[in-house]
Amino acid sequence: DAYIAAIEAANETINAYVDVTQDKAREMARASDARIGAGKAGPLEGIPLGIKDLFATEGVHTQACSHILDGFKPRYESTVTQNLWNDGAVMLGKLNMDEFAMGSSNESSYYGPVKNPWRAKGSNLDLVPGGSSGGSAAAVAAQLCAGATATDTGGSIRQPAAFTGTVGIKPTYGRCSRFGIVAFASSLDQAGPIARDVRDAAILLRSMASIDPKDTTSVDLPVPDYEASIGQSIKGMKIGIPKEYRVEGMPEEIEALWQQGIAWLKDAGAEIIDITLPHTQYALPAYYIVAPAEASSNLARYDGVRYGLRVDGKDIVDMYEKTRAAGFGREVKRRIMIGTYVLSAGYYDAYYLRAQKVRTLIKRDFEIAFQAGVDAILTPATPSSAFGIADEDLAADPVKMYLNDIFTVTVNMAGLPGIAVPGGLDHKGLPLGLQLIGKPFEEETLFKTAHVIE
Ligand code: GLN
Repeated sequence: DAYIAAIEAANETINAYVDVTQDKAREMARASDARIGAGKAGPLEGIPLGIKDLFATEGVHTQACSHILDGFKPRYESTVTQNLWNDGAVMLGKLNMDEFAMGSSNESSYYGPVKNPWRAKGSNLDLVPGGSSGGSAAAVAAQLCAGATATDTGGSIRQPAAFTGTVGIKPTYGRCSRFGIVAFASSLDQAGPIARDVRDAAILLRSMASIDPKDTTSVDLPVPDYEASIGQSIKGMKIGIPKEYRVEGMPEEIEALWQQGIAWLKDAGAEIIDITLPHTQYALPAYYIVAPAEASSNLARYDGVRYGLRVDGKDIVDMYEKTRAAGFGREVKRRIMIGTYVLSAGYYDAYYLRAQKVRTLIKRDFEIAFQAGVDAILTPATPSSAFGIADEDLAADPVKMYLNDIFTVTVNMAGLPGIAVPGGLDHKGLPLGLQLIGKPFEEETLFKTAHVIE
C-alpha cells in the first residue's frame, strides 16, 4: 500500500511506470502474507518490484514501450519474472523504457520521457535518468519500488544506474534466461536487476538467474549465493585499469572519480595493475552494426498480424507498411534501416562480418588480461553525469547520444558481467558511477568488490 501510494503521488511527474498493477499487487501481497503465516516464506517474500516493460508478464501490459505493440498482453510469463514470483516477489507494475530498449536517455519511449528524480544543485532543469532502463532506475531511486528488473544490450542497466545513484548489474551472457524478454539484439541482450545497494542487487540476481530449456543460450551452472560474497575481503585481488578507457575529452571529474575508485580498492588491499585492451576503440562502431543488424531481423515480426497495432491498407503489403510506419518511432526506424543495410547483399562482408570479427578481437583482449592474472577491471560507468531532457546537441546528432555507451558496450560484445556502483557526486551534485567488469560467470567477484566502493 505504501509503495502504491508513493507511485500515485510521484508518477505523474517522474513517469517511471507505464502501468500500475495495483489489484494484482495486492492479490500477490495477500498470497505472500498467507505463505509467511504458514511458515513457507520464499527468499523474496512480499518484496514489491517494478518490471521493465520489455519482460512478458502474463495478462499484463507488455509493449516494450512501443506503439506497435498496442494492447499486447502475453499469455505467458518471462522466465526471469516467473523466477521472481516463485520466490515470493510482488509485481507493482510495468516500467517505462526506451522503445524496444533502443536509447540511452529514455526519450524514445512511446509513453514519453522519464524524469530523473535527481536535479543539479540550484537548477530546475529536468534531467534524463539514462536508458534504456530509465523507468527501472528512476523508480528505484525515487523509492517507487524496492528493486526492479532491467535489461542491458549495450549499457542499459549500468548507464541508468550510474545516472540515478543506484546499483545495476548486467550478468554474464547466459546467466539469465531471455525467454519472454522482447528481443532487441539476441546475442547481446541480458537481464539483470537495478537496486538500491549491492546487497539488494545480489539477492535479486540470485532469484532472476537460472538455466532454462526455453533459452538454449542459458547456462547450466549453479547459481551461487551472491549475497554471501558481500563483506568478503578483496585483499590480494588484482584490479586491471585499462588505459584505452582514458578517452579523449573525458571530463576531469570522471578521471578524478576513477582515481578515487582506485584508491578505495587499494586501501582495501587490492593490487592495481595497468592493462591494455587494444581494440576498445572499435567496440562502439562494431556494436552499432551488430545491434541494429540483429534488431532489424528481430523486429521483422511486427507485421500488424501477430501482435498489437494494425493499420489497414488496400492489400497486405500496404497494411504492413502502414502498420510499421505508424507503429515504430524514429530511433527504432533508424536502427531497422541501418541493420537492413549492413545485412544486405554486397554489404554483409564489409560491415556485419567485419564487425563480428572485431567482436572476437574485443573478447580476446579481455581473455588476455584475465589470463595474465587480472580478477576484475575498474572503469568509469559513463563519460558524464545525467544530461537534460531534450538536449539540443544530442537530439541533433544521434552519434553523440551513442557515445554514452562508450564504456559499457565492450562488456556486452565480450559477453562478460559488469556492475555499475555509485562512486560519488560531481560538482553539480549529480551521481556518478564506477563500473567493474569480471570474468565470465564470476559475478560474485563483482559484488564483493562493488561493496567495497559503495
Ligand atoms: N544505448 C544502447 C543502444 O541504444 C544500449 C541499449 C541497451 O543496452 N538496451 O543500443
